[in-house]
Amino acid sequence: MSAPSDRQTPLGRQTTLLLQELIRNAAVNDGTPDSGHEIRQVRTLQAFFEGSGLEGVVVEPHPGRGNLVIRIAGTDPHAPSLVLLGHTDVVPVEPAGWERDPFGGEIVDGVLWGRGAIDMLDLTAAYAVVTREIARSGFRPRGDLVFAAVADEENGGHYGAGWLTEHLVDLIDADYVLTESGGAPTGSLPSVGVMVGEKGQAPRTLRVTGVPGHGSAPWGAQSAAVIAAEAVSRIARFRTPTVITPQWRAYADALDLGPTTAALQDPERLYEALPATGALQGFAHASTHTTISANVIQAGEKLNVIPGEATVRLDIRVLPGVDGDEVDGYIREALGDLLDHIRIEGDQFVESTVSSTDTPLFDVLRKAVRRARPQADLLPMLGAGGTDGRFYRLRGIPSYGFGVLSDRWDYGTFRTLFHGHNERVDLDSIDLTVNALDHVVREFLGTDHGVRLAR
Ligand SMILES: [Zn+2]
Repeated sequence: MSAPSDRQTPLGRQTTLLLQELIRNAAVNDGTPDSGHEIRQVRTLQAFFEGSGLEGVVVEPHPGRGNLVIRIAGTDPHAPSLVLLGHTDVVPVEPAGWERDPFGGEIVDGVLWGRGAIDMLDLTAAYAVVTREIARSGFRPRGDLVFAAVADEENGGHYGAGWLTEHLVDLIDADYVLTESGGAPTGSLPSVGVMVGEKGQAPRTLRVTGVPGHGSAPWGAQSAAVIAAEAVSRIARFRTPTVITPQWRAYADALDLGPTTAALQDPERLYEALPATGALQGFAHASTHTTISANVIQAGEKLNVIPGEATVRLDIRVLPGVDGDEVDGYIREALGDLLDHIRIEGDQFVESTVSSTDTPLFDVLRKAVRRARPQADLLPMLGAGGTDGRFYRLRGIPSYGFGVLSDRWDYGTFRTLFHGHNERVDLDSIDLTVNALDHVVREFLGTDHGVRLAR
């Protein structure tokens, strides 16, 4: 019941076996420094590479937060290099919501279950398989091939790609990056999604001040909890400007929703058209708006005390071109007269990043997809969430979220599995993806694409 299928290709079978191991290691990152234990993934990967002649470097910025980087040197120092950037941590689970063991790696009816099956241990496993295969086959890439299995992506990359960028950038440096979130088929043709960029981040905290008092006499009191609750609902109702980005325009076209398409591309009519996008509603809205989500709300400690202080933490994701001042303006507008009791704190800002599709790697991705789906074109998308790709894009290095998923997984389904219950991947998608990646690496690193990009 839990063995890879005979129908799989050799690369697909290897990926499936490695993915099962990575899922069973349960490298759960709950956001605390001592969680994650990605070093277990490093040990599994080291065992996987044993005998291939590839060793790599292990970096552990905090005990247990292991990263593994392997570089296969190219033959031409001027040829562009490629990094396969996979994170090894996963987000926590709520086991009660699962139909199967989230860390069992079971295969049932051609589907592999477990936390990380699509985010993104499947890709990390595929990257390892392709890298080992390149080494074993004696293929000599022109530019370097880098395999980077990194920790802590699910909490900002502080012990992973972020740390490595800051302290050991040469170790993970490359001219091009492939990473997560691509591959979902969209529309009837279908188009295959490639994440060419992602929204930026501008988290803020609202500090609410009320007047403490006795919980037995709430009438007329100025509870910080009540003010915070009103602030949260005003934020939820507030509408930031609707912006039709080039990526959203193309995505709406690909969705193929008939007359609704035009409404989805019209800032005046977008809200009325959102329900027609079904499971994609949240994505459609996030693709066209800077979003503000009040996700952590704290007030009060003791049952009989009306709280005098409260905090509300806002997860804010910005569209390309939106800056920190604009974000603060939105918050002020949403809160209105509540600002008498609320201070906005924080100035953290990471801009939205988008890579050009006019690159030799993007052309190679298109070719690889067409080997599996001759009719398909690539659909450049802007991710609503964050990935480690931004650490490269912020340095001007093109980064694409790439994969090839089977028709079973439209983007709506795909998204609900991310961080959701019953995360799983079908074996066909594993096969499609690893074989496409193998093709991309051989084609891109085996062909002369001229010299490296200046940056
Ligand atoms: Zn991920």
